[in-house]
Amino acid sequence: MTYDHFFSVALARLHQERRYRVFADLERIAGRFPYARWHSPDGPRPVVIWCSNDYLGMGQHPKVISAMIETATRMGAGAGGTRNISGTNHPLVELERELAELHGKEAALVFTSGYVSNETGIPTIAGLLPDCVILSDAWNHNSMIEGVRRAGVEKKIWRHNDVGHLEELLAAEVLERPKLIAFEALYSMDGDVAPVKKICDLAERYGAMTYIDEVHSAGMYGPAGAGIAAREGALHRIDVVEGTLAKAFGCLGGYIAANADIIDAVRSYAPGFIFTTALPPAVCAAATAAIQHLKASQCERDRHQERAARVKAVLNEAGLPVMPSETHIVPVMVSDPEKCKQASDLLLAKHGIYVQPINYPTVRRGTERLRLTPTPYHDDKLVDALAEALVDVWRRLGLPLRSRVLAAE
Ligand SMILES: *Cc1c(COP(=O)(O)O)cnc(C)c1O
Repeated sequence: MTYDHFFSVALARLHQERRYRVFADLERIAGRFPYARWHSPDGPRPVVIWCSNDYLGMGQHPKVISAMIETATRMGAGAGGTRNISGTNHPLVELERELAELHGKEAALVFTSGYVSNETGIPTIAGLLPDCVILSDAWNHNSMIEGVRRAGVEKKIWRHNDVGHLEELLAAEVLERPKLIAFEALYSMDGDVAPVKKICDLAERYGAMTYIDEVHSAGMYGPAGAGIAAREGALHRIDVVEGTLAKAFGCLGGYIAANADIIDAVRSYAPGFIFTTALPPAVCAAATAAIQHLKASQCERDRHQERAARVKAVLNEAGLPVMPSETHIVPVMVSDPEKCKQASDLLLAKHGIYVQPINYPTVRRGTERLRLTPTPYHDDKLVDALAEALVDVWRRLGLPLRSRVLAAE
């Protein structure tokens, strides 16, 4: 029997649906963010990255890099084991202390990624609640969907950000039944924000636990970068905050923060925590440096918001279909998977601009888009060059542009 056939058929299906993913071979240049070198088929070329999730450029911050180097020099490269078997290192303990404080909780627990923290955190928490029902927002990230699936308990999906629907589902349960509401603070494909306070109101009225994913908001919103729930004054009403060290904090790893017993229970029961090697001490120290810097410094957050507003204004003025968003995410609609891919290819080949196409299944079919993430380091010159490049690509592909008159309305 030959098995190769099954894999080539699966790949052919992706090609046919225009969903086959190609990764650009990039080399980021520390100190020159958002510039990078692209190892193109014709050799290395300079490019500007417009879709990084290193939202504040902390991955190249001198304090973060030097914490990483200094710690690796003193403690070596790897952690040396799982947390149970010799992997708990001092920088990891300090990082957890820092995260607990950031989110105003008693304790925090670090995982090897944000993905793992949802995938193993949600089922562990739900699994310890007798006959739990999970109420999950329809647009939740794949890591939360997988977490909910693994929980193997009853789940109910509420329409995205629709608190009326959430209330209907909550009201249908008997008050005594344990309920876990799982949602994101900031949805990263549309850049919209959850009605956190209203969700907390419902959680209190119907006796539900709340689990918020602050992956796209921690470090960037709220006082000291504590996130959206903190900005809304609702942090103390949230039971579990989940986040990543890989986006605004520019490193790697994920975490949950909650009261001491919840954290201790997840530490003791979560397979995705117990049976995997701990994060390297150097990564932990670097993440702690990033968190501490962003706690004390507001200027990155201010500049980040100012840059995002600038990009939206310039692209709108150029007649491009910018989706309205209340956050730092700037989605530009293409609404066609083939053209979305072509637009991304043309931007890279003709303009040295790197923006990944966002197609199904990351977003719904027909809402394919380019998702721009301006950082504090995208200056006016880069913004203007981006607008010009996008207009050129829109013309080449016959995509619709609003006229200037309409744009001014
Ligand atoms: C990126 C992301 C994660 C996963 O975080 P990683 O640290 O990259 O694994 C979790 N939730 C959401 C909403 C995300 O966008």
